[in-house]
Amino acid sequence: MQSYQIQPIGFIQSPYKQKFAIPRQPRLVPQAKAKLVFCEDFSREEFVRGIEEFSHLWLLFRFHETADKGYSALVRPPRLGGNERKGVFATRATFRPNGIGMSAVKLEGVEYKNGQLALLLSGIDLLDGTPIVDIKPYLPYSDAMTDASAGFADTRPETPMTVEFSDQASDFLVKQTQYPDLREFITNVLKQDPRPAYKKQKQQTQFYGMSLYEFNIRWQVDEQHNKVIEITHE
Ligand code: SAM
Repeated sequence: MQSYQIQPIGFIQSPYKQKFAIPRQPRLVPQAKAKLVFCEDFSREEFVRGIEEFSHLWLLFRFHETADKGYSALVRPPRLGGNERKGVFATRATFRPNGIGMSAVKLEGVEYKNGQLALLLSGIDLLDGTPIVDIKPYLPYSDAMTDASAGFADTRPETPMTVEFSDQASDFLVKQTQYPDLREFITNVLKQDPRPAYKKQKQQTQFYGMSLYEFNIRWQVDEQHNKVIEITHE
């Protein structure tokens, strides 16, 4: 079999510090901002000349956290409640041959400071440290297919979950000023209901935690309701 070597062109700096609670696709949480920092070989303005003309980009990346954990021909898409199996190539599962992912994200700007090139992005679904292997502009005339159908993933996932913040969490959010839309960010992440499919059927209160930026966030879920109990600095 032929094999190829690919080299990252850059790495993602993301607020998502662990896989749990990252949305399942890009643009579901627009407040998720990231920086794509180019590797030295590609850290020259020529590589991105003209890129500001595009509002959105395709990122091709490596699922680096799971790429060495193998794959199966059949996977259980969370959309189907984790009970039904589909072929890996009929899904966007992370465990796949070659471990390559693709996300269409919004380009917010280009930064070039002290010889370091970076792209500012939003709406990402990528873990901190994700290696990027290529970038291409999103082309609406070709990529946006208005007559497309998408089987079990035909519609945007519903977000019936409600979100409430404890007094401690609300105070914390008011006092921190570095991330003005942090409350909205957390709200939209929790509305995606990051619980594993098999836990969603459970009746009793469940407790979860995640890291966003440098914060630890703890919340509880009762049926369709999330309550953020506590936010602390790491
Ligand atoms: N939009 C991409 C695609 O379709 O190829 C990713 C879809 S995949 C279902 C999204 C999930 O990938 C996220 O919820 C997160 O748990 C996981 N993920 C994101 N970055 C990752 C990384 N670097 N390594 C492993 N898993 C990652």
